[in-house]
Amino acid sequence: MALKYSNKINKIRTFALSLIFIGFAIMYVGLLFKSTMWLMSIFMILGLLSVALSTVIYFWIGMLSTKTIQVVCPNCGKPTKMLGRVDACMHCNEPLTIDKDLEGKEFDERYNSKKYQK
Ligand SMILES: [Zn+2]
Repeated sequence: MALKYSNKINKIRTFALSLIFIGFAIMYVGLLFKSTMWLMSIFMILGLLSVALSTVIYFWIGMLSTKTIQVVCPNCGKPTKMLGRVDACMHCNEPLTIDKDLEGKEFDERYNSKKYQK
């Protein structure tokens, strides 16, 4: 099976991390426009917003982490955190499910939506 899914918490964390880098990159570009005050200010504000957003996302991950289910991955034997009914292992991206009905079925993130829940 092609493992195109990765663990949701890892995915969000990667996104938050890249936002920090993007934020600093934007602020760095702003420094190149030191002579144009308003242009530099715009870049600085955008950069700060990006970093602030990433902080918010990190906080959100913290909230989400309390709702995750800790399971031991049958593939690599390491403990991993699951979000929703289906998720992928944090270490090896093995698709996992906590629902016996979905066992053996093709991994589909749609199973997490309300429509598919009984
Ligand atoms: Zn694993």
